Amino acid sequence: MPLASSPVTAGVPSGGNDGIFGDIEDAINASVAAQVQLTAMGMDMRKTIVAAIRQTALAESRRLAELAVADTGMGRADHKQAKNDLATNRTPGPEDLEPECFTGDHGMTFVDYAPFGVIGSLTPCTNPTSTIINHGIAMISAGNSVVFGPHPAAIQSTLEAIRVLNRAIVRAGGPPNLLTSIAEPTLRTAKILMTHPKVNLLVATGGTSVVKAAMTSGKRAIAAGPGNPPVIVDETADLPKAARDIVAGASFDNNMPCICEKECFVVQSVADRLILEMQHAGAYLINRQHVDSLTKILITEDGHPNRDYVGKSPQVLLNAIGLSVPANIDLVICETVEEHPFVQEELLMPILAIVRVSDYNAAVEAAIRAEHSFRHTAIIHTARIDRITDFAKRIRVNLFVANGPCGAALGTDAEGYSAMTIAGPTGEGACRPRTFSTRRRVALPGSLRVL
Ligand code: NAD
Repeated sequence: MPLASSPVTAGVPSGGNDGIFGDIEDAINASVAAQVQLTAMGMDMRKTIVAAIRQTALAESRRLAELAVADTGMGRADHKQAKNDLATNRTPGPEDLEPECFTGDHGMTFVDYAPFGVIGSLTPCTNPTSTIINHGIAMISAGNSVVFGPHPAAIQSTLEAIRVLNRAIVRAGGPPNLLTSIAEPTLRTAKILMTHPKVNLLVATGGTSVVKAAMTSGKRAIAAGPGNPPVIVDETADLPKAARDIVAGASFDNNMPCICEKECFVVQSVADRLILEMQHAGAYLINRQHVDSLTKILITEDGHPNRDYVGKSPQVLLNAIGLSVPANIDLVICETVEEHPFVQEELLMPILAIVRVSDYNAAVEAAIRAEHSFRHTAIIHTARIDRITDFAKRIRVNLFVANGPCGAALGTDAEGYSAMTIAGPTGEGACRPRTFSTRRRVALPGSLRVL
């Protein structure tokens, strides 16, 4: 459908540079027009568009990953590439919108998944490009257009991801501006997005502040907040495997993903062996004095993580206290007490605090306290099925892994689809196309029951 001939596109701002506008109003108006065009193009075109996004995202994965690291100064390009690829390959497409149908003596009723319309999506600096890929696929699959509010600390990489995906959409025959944003996003423009009457659904992925802002915006909101995932290791666990899984999970992208193991509660009788196995798996153990020195640097006076060190490598963190470690060290481990900020705060740094506990029950109680009811992610290593069941029931998180690294919760070397938005506070869990849809029911009383 040509832009100029459509009544809905009359007055649509021109000048968007592959979806990037100078003004938030223009970005929203262009998004409204793009969504109407997408609806008119039908389901097959949605499938074509999503296939084109996947193809381009795979081809651009490494470049976008490197750009994200250069832009934010956080994380690792190899792991960000893996996140981009995971989002590309494992985010469900339009096939996720399976309709529901009821038939009986009174005829037929079906329920379809329909688009919300324009989605306003506030995205984090910790997963800038993978979130755009994941939302692009899932939200467009559901028939929506998206106006992104990128984190001001990740503007270049977020906008570049939007640009390349928009170009792929247009090349595939889709409408321009299905994904839009603005060249200079700020807190002010994020707030406009959150309350704008033309934005039909708000999706906020970030820390406590944006979750609160979204949930009090007066708009339908899906809010995905912080996590502080505990991992429990009991006396029945396969310790070498548990150690390898924990080191792999906690070191991933310098521990920036919200799902990463962030503190470990280990039963006293196997603690020494687990720590040794973690060292064999490549972790670097620091002593109590090092922990004290690091705490002074990494934790601010008001008790929160120092943002200057978020997403930095073990080498950068340890250099700050005068320790130099080989480049192949991916994770720092240390023993501490439950009350320590390395246990209770979401550091987003490659440091795993380990706390010894008397038994399994004490581990569960400490894990529940450290998770702070974020309802996010928890992990356990045990040979006892009853404990897997018990811990999962008691901690009540959206993502739970037994005997694997945290990434298994989102489909890495495991079953299930992937998501970059885990909506704990509003309850949707791992978001997918049907999450970004509204239900429409059509009843045909007395008709289409053919038996
Ligand atoms: P952040 O909260 O600083 O920013 C996230 C987004 O919200 C950005 O676009 C930012 O501009 C916007 N924002 C922040 N405060 C706002 C406010 N008061 N009003 C309007 N907009 C606001 O988060 P971050 O540092 O980019 O990301 C790290 C945090 O996000 C961590 O806590 C991490 O656990 C969490 N996270 C959660 C998920 C999840 O799926 N649950 C996914 C990724 C990151």
